[in-house]
Amino acid sequence: MENLKEKEEVIKFAQKLNTTNLSPLRSGNVSLRVTQNNVEGFLLTPSGIKYESLKPEDIVFLALKEKYDNLKLFNSSLNPSSEWRFHQDIYIEKPKAKAIVHAHSTHATAVSTHGKSIPAFHYMVALAGGDDIKCAEYGTFGTTELSKNIIKALDKRKACLMSNHGQVAFGSTLKQAFELAEEVENICHQYIIALKIGKPKILSSTEMNKILDKVKHYKKG
Ligand code: 13P
Ligand code: ZN
Repeated sequence: MENLKEKEEVIKFAQKLNTTNLSPLRSGNVSLRVTQNNVEGFLLTPSGIKYESLKPEDIVFLALKEKYDNLKLFNSSLNPSSEWRFHQDIYIEKPKAKAIVHAHSTHATAVSTHGKSIPAFHYMVALAGGDDIKCAEYGTFGTTELSKNIIKALDKRKACLMSNHGQVAFGSTLKQAFELAEEVENICHQYIIALKIGKPKILSSTEMNKILDKVKHYKKG
């Protein structure tokens, strides 16, 4: 089977959505950029399937350039995740995106229902790539409208909230994308607690520019 290792990697991180409780039950989805049969595209979790039961043949390949009516589906009888549009658009718009994690993580979802960006109340906000974490405007799940709103919120950023829905993060590997989604969840948790005792102090843009530069050179072990 072509891309077997990559399909197993997608399954591993889809299952991690449940085991780490980053996204409960059938919520969320995971994808990985690959080339299959010389076609550029990505592997994506199927729609509405419990992650614990996933097998490599269930993982759906979608071409980057195809539209829905002529999607190239290889080796899968299952439908791709209903969110294939924003996965496809992120890969098209962001050459550095090699893997994507979408999650309905509890605290990010709670913050997303306010439809506001998360300001620099903590320097870790910079991990998403800017001095705030944007919240994409609301769009019905699985629509082009939602995808467009996400692309806008991801301007110069690697993660964003999705209004009344959850969050999405990308990285150069699935491990990185997953870790960033976990960081966004932690930041949202801290933000909710900070708001409980008043209005948190926001770091200046000079300080955040310094942080953004440091984060770029921060080496992870
Ligand atoms: P899928 O099962 O279609 O991926 O849907 C899960 C989800 O989170 C939709 O936003
Ligand atoms: Zn979702």
